[in-house]
Amino acid sequence: MHILIEKGHIIDPSQGIDGIGNILIEDGKIVEIKIEGHGETEKRRNRDTRCSSPSLRVSESPSHEEELRIINAAGMFVIPGLIDMHVHLREPGFEYKETIKTGTAAAIRGGFTTVCCMPNTFPINDNASVTEFIIRKSLEGLCTVLPIGAITKGQKGEELVEMGTMKDEGCIAFSDDGLPVMNSLMMRRALEYSKAFNLPIISHCEDLTLSEDGVMSEGLLSMTLGLRGIPAEAEQIMVFRDILLAELTQGKLHIAHVSTKGSVKLIRDAKKRGVNVTAETCPHYFSLTEDAVKNYDTNAKVNPPLRTNKDIDAIKEGLKDGTIDVIATDHAPHHRDEKLREFDLAPSGISGLETALGLSMRLVDEGVITINQLIEKMSVNPSRILGLCSPASFLITGPKGTLSKGTDADVAIIDTKKEFRVEASKFFSKGKNTPFDGWMLKGAPAVTISKGKIYEWQ
Ligand SMILES: [Zn+2]
Ligand SMILES: [Zn+2]
Repeated sequence: MHILIEKGHIIDPSQGIDGIGNILIEDGKIVEIKIEGHGETEKRRNRDTRCSSPSLRVSESPSHEEELRIINAAGMFVIPGLIDMHVHLREPGFEYKETIKTGTAAAIRGGFTTVCCMPNTFPINDNASVTEFIIRKSLEGLCTVLPIGAITKGQKGEELVEMGTMKDEGCIAFSDDGLPVMNSLMMRRALEYSKAFNLPIISHCEDLTLSEDGVMSEGLLSMTLGLRGIPAEAEQIMVFRDILLAELTQGKLHIAHVSTKGSVKLIRDAKKRGVNVTAETCPHYFSLTEDAVKNYDTNAKVNPPLRTNKDIDAIKEGLKDGTIDVIATDHAPHHRDEKLREFDLAPSGISGLETALGLSMRLVDEGVITINQLIEKMSVNPSRILGLCSPASFLITGPKGTLSKGTDADVAIIDTKKEFRVEASKFFSKGKNTPFDGWMLKGAPAVTISKGKIYEWQ
């Protein structure tokens, strides 16, 4: 099947492309990209007519009789499919929360064509056979799934996994996410060992001795609510430790879910010194403050916890100046019954794949980042950090985060003017746990192209 995406505003920071043009796709690969105009302005886009043909609908599998499928993308952005380098797909072991199939459906609904799943499943992805299972299962997925292996066996922090065999099976990074590696020597060894495979160590930064039993940010509000608080230092101490260890080992460190002002500063300073460190934040950390838990709303319970306005300001500044390279979701679906438990006992996490783009587009509307920066942080940079840019470095799939010729046609067509109300009950994800239910957001995928299929959204 051939697909022609016409008249869209193509933005591909990986190739420095920013202009109106067409993309031709044949048999799931991009075969041609042609730019007609450059530097389309906001004003011009406003005058453009919306995508009128074909009518937008969900069509998992277009008719194979169609020789050439034309998608009119006038007035929309055509971008490399988004890459979420931090999701929890829950399979194997917790299929009642999410499966690879439902998680990847949520992903393509959100404009993502690649997701990287954390290892805290059951069994834990700490050996090649679990990695192999996830890779095999991911064939059922609607987008590309790349597994992240555990750093230590059983995520116990005691013994390193066999990174080599897990890389051979398809792991693209290592993390004990959900938990920190508390033992500094173990973290040092992990950073040293992973260098041999040129894969990053993704650190969930939390000093458990400081955060223990905490359920929200520590401060006046936690005292008022009678909930145990987690100080910002619980994150920052570990960010600082891991930066120092990355400096010592020259290892490749990626800091997960940055939530505090202090962390942003530590990472900024480290980058200035030339430390090999990258960082991500999540939409909830620049969209919500701790006030979201005022009503004991367990859907706003996350780890690390939501912080304050000064933290949000610092995170935005970090996104703007490049200190924070990536926006990831930390998509953490949970069953409704689990989130219905009292605040202290409810599990942490937000089902994030279907709101990430809309929440991040608010940063573009506010002028915090440009649309190009958004695409860098949600596609190009994750690809770079995980080494998905070049085919030679990668085993199970072609380059990601790019629209360059010959690559898999992972494409998102984004309608930045489309306003929509978040309706958790309609999420494709099994996890309906979101504090954004009912929010009006602007900017949604109109079409996602993944694994050779076209998904059109109303
Ligand atoms: Zn984490
Ligand atoms: Zn996580």
